[in-house]
Formats: sequence, C-alpha cells, structure tokens
Amino acid sequence: MQRLIGRRRFLTRAGAVAALGALDACGLAPGSRRANTRTTLQLSPLRASVDRITRITVCTRPFRARGPRLDVEKVGAKTVVHNYGHGGSGWSLSWGSGAIATANAMATGERDIAVIGCGALGLTTALLLQRAGARVTIYAKDLPPNVRSSLATGLYTPDSRICMEEHTTPAFKRTWEQMARQSFQTYQSFLGLPGTPVEFIDSYFVSDDPANRPRRSEPDGRPGFANLERELIGDLIPQGVDFEPGSHPLGRRFLQRNTQLMFNLPAYTRTLLADFSANGGKIEIAEFHAPDQFARLKEKTLVNATGYGARALFDDQSIIPVRGQLTRMIPQADVSYGLFYKSVSFVPRRDGLVFQVVGDNDYYGYNDETAVPDRAEAERAVNTIASLFAAT
Ligand SMILES: Cc1cc2nc3c(=O)[nH]c(=O)nc-3n(C[C@H](O)[C@H](O)[C@H](O)COP(=O)(O)OP(=O)(O)OC[C@H]3O[C@@H](n4cnc5c(N)ncnc54)[C@H](O)[C@@H]3O)c2cc1C
Repeated sequence: MQRLIGRRRFLTRAGAVAALGALDACGLAPGSRRANTRTTLQLSPLRASVDRITRITVCTRPFRARGPRLDVEKVGAKTVVHNYGHGGSGWSLSWGSGAIATANAMATGERDIAVIGCGALGLTTALLLQRAGARVTIYAKDLPPNVRSSLATGLYTPDSRICMEEHTTPAFKRTWEQMARQSFQTYQSFLGLPGTPVEFIDSYFVSDDPANRPRRSEPDGRPGFANLERELIGDLIPQGVDFEPGSHPLGRRFLQRNTQLMFNLPAYTRTLLADFSANGGKIEIAEFHAPDQFARLKEKTLVNATGYGARALFDDQSIIPVRGQLTRMIPQADVSYGLFYKSVSFVPRRDGLVFQVVGDNDYYGYNDETAVPDRAEAERAVNTIASLFAAT
C-alpha cells in the first residue's frame, strides 16, 4: 500500500498547475514542476530539540460534514446570523465567511449589531460590520489569546476539514470559492505591516524516496473529506520547485518547495483587535448557556460566531471535534521556511516554532475531544524534524 500524506496543502500545490495551467511565468508547460538545476539551496540549520519546547497546546476544530453554518434564524425577538463550523479552515475563510454574515446582518436594517464570539470568525465579522456602517459590540466568554483560534497552526488552508466530499454541491463550491478568494485577497492587505502579522513563506515537502511525491490518502472506505483547492483556486498557488540530493543541505533526500501564506497569530490578532477598537467597537465578557439568554442583549440582530461553543449553546450535534496538538518551541529569527516530513509539519511562526503530527489522513484526531497534551506525540514531532538536520 502506498505511503499516505496527511497535509493536503502539499499535494494541492504539487498538482495545482497541472489542473489549471494558470501559472506559467517561466514558459513551462502547465503541469510541470520546475527542477532546480543551478543553485544550491541554503537553509539555516533548525535548532530542533525537545529541551527547547516551550508549550504544548491542544484544541478542537469545529467540523461539520455539511460545512459551516451560515443561515439566519429567529430566536424569540432576535435575529441570529450564524457563522460557525469552519473545521480546520476558520482563519483561512474568515473574511469571506464574515462578508456573508455581514450581508445577512445588514439586510435586517439594524445598525447596532452584536457579535457573539471573539475568535477568528467573530473578530473579522465585527470588523466587516463596522466597515459596512454598523456599531458593533462583541460579547464573548473568552478573548484572545484564550480562544481556540489562538491555538491554530496559522496557515492559509481554506479546504482543511471544511466538509465531507459528498456534500460539495455546486452551490457549496461557489460559496466556498467566494470565501476562499475574498479571504486570500484581504490577507494581502496585512503583508508588510509592523509586527509581520501575515507573510509568505517557503515550505519544503521532504521525502526519502524520489517516487514518494505528495499524495492524498484514502480514508479506508470512510467518507472522504472535501479537497477543493486544486479544482477551484489553483491559480492562487505558485508552482513547486524540486530539489534533488546534492542541491540542498538535508542529506540524500528529495525536496519540493512550495509557497504558503502564514499568519503570525498574536501579531495578527492584535492588529484586528486594535482596528476594532479604533473603529469604536466595544467588547463585553459574557457567557450564554442557551439561545434564549440573548434576550438580555440590547441589539436585535446578532452574529453567532461561537465556533465549537455552538455545539453546546445551540445543541448542534452536527459539530464533530477534531483534535489537533501543537508543540511550540523557542523562536529562531533566521529560520523562515517550513517543512513537512513523515506526516509531521513544521511552521516557522515568529512567535514560536510550531511542530505538529498531522497523521496519514484527515481522520487524525476525528471525534476526539481530549484536551490533555500528549508529551510523547510532541517529542515525536520535534524529533522527526530534528532528524533532517542530524543526518546532514
Ligand atoms: C490544531 C489546529 C490547527 C489549526 N490550524 C489552522 C490553520 O492553520 N488555518 C486555519 O485557517 N484554521 C486552522 N484551524 C482551525 C481554526 O482554528 C478554527 O476553524 C477557528 O479557530 C474557528 O474560529 P471561531 O471563531 O469559529 O471559534 P473560536 O476561536 O473557538 O471562538 C469562539 C468564540 O466564541 C466564544 N464563545 C463560545 N461559546 C460561547 C458561549 N456559550 N457564550 C459566550 N461566548 C462563547 C469563545 O469564548 C470565543 O470567543 C486549526 C485548528 C486546530 C485545532
């Protein structure tokens, strides 16, 4: 059985140009990857060792088989605009999804709007509502950095566990593409800002075997997760470049370089919070145990951006927890490249290096609500990446 690769972004980028032929700046035939033939790749050595671990965090992705909930519902006298259930794509789709929620909320005619939740979806929707002319108060049990969104990897991964393949109707695909493109464009406006909230990085898929190119795993007869990037937004993805042994410092391995959009979440979140506050936004700490408790709010229109919290608040059992664990390490300023090797991902976040076992397919962590950090898994993640440097 072929070896399986867990992270769709590498295989997406590997095949994106093949699918669409959209990027051909060097005159290569669409579908080809470029082989590096001239230069030797320079990579600052990564100081990866378990004694440098600073923190292990665990978080659950709010996955819904049918994708995010974006409909509008009446709860007593209140209009509730839903914006939750974005699986492993919440940051990546936030601006586009927030735009849909904003249009739904503004269509009520109200200009004083409550946003319940201060994670990726709540913050971006609150800002978009302000830009549309609304006065916004965020009500939330927890604020960043104590929200689930603060425990994300921080990459643009807009189809990561966004829904099951069987639910990718034409209407869903249109909505998803609109969300993914709008978010991608909005993220460009955060490039180059003080604190580097958002940046592009190079990432290397590393393999011991030249035949072992990024491949999608098959989840053993279970329903497959949607895989939409290559089909719908392949033109956003730069072409990969291959590096053979001898042309890079990672021993006799085969590398494929791709480009990724990375979010340095603390700096990015602070930028969003500062913008919200500068626009006159207010924040109140509040916890709701049932939707009828919204009656105590002065606003008549509410956006529900409670993420995984909606499972309890709205008794939405369609939300499935998908556990993910990040191992954080002391930042290293000279390392600005990512790696993926043996189902472990490494991301060079400015606020702390991020290591993560991602498993062989998207069922890794599925329906697992365990919040206890697994030290053995953390060390395995670090040691797998460290082995790339030990062998050189
Ligand atoms: C390990 C891991 C890695 C990830 N990596 C990425 C990535 O690289 N890129 C990406 O795009 N996505 C990633 N994700 C997914 C992303 O983190 C989620 O999709 C996103 O955080 C969801 O944001 P949210 O705003 O809906 O929810 P949350 O961040 O959970 O925010 C919910 C808000 O609602 C509040 N709230 C909840 N319930 C109540 C209540 N009853 N009363 C009052 N307030 C309430 C909370 O306090 C909080 O303020 C990752 C997820 C995990 C677990």
